[in-house]
Amino acid sequence: MGRPRQVQICCSSKCLREIQPHEKAVALTCFAQTLGMGKRRSSKSERLFLCPQCAYRVAGVERQPSHTAPFDLAIFRVLLDLVGADPDVATAGWELLQQRRQTILYTPLALPEGEVLPPERRALKAG
Ligand SMILES: [Zn+2]
Repeated sequence: MGRPRQVQICCSSKCLREIQPHEKAVALTCFAQTLGMGKRRSSKSERLFLCPQCAYRVAGVERQPSHTAPFDLAIFRVLLDLVGADPDVATAGWELLQQRRQTILYTPLALPEGEVLPPERRALKAG
């Protein structure tokens, strides 16, 4: 088991939502390395995170990036390899969609905190 996760931000510029430590996510790691300059040196790595919906969208819905955008193309290819190999990411994305459906369409609006409804007038007159 790895280090406990922290709150992350989905790295898709279309999303940028918080991914809580208990939520499902896809991690991308990148780092740089020198080549042909004597002793090979590597940078620290950076980890980026995508929510399952964005990972699925990039790999399965959006157009394949052009060869003139090699970094975007590389990310597309690693996501396609991961997401296309098993239904787990698609299933996790569907679970989020199911929660959103419940929240937006089927959760009744609550009264604001502390709001008190007045008693019916009729009851006071009867006594
Ligand atoms: Zn996202």
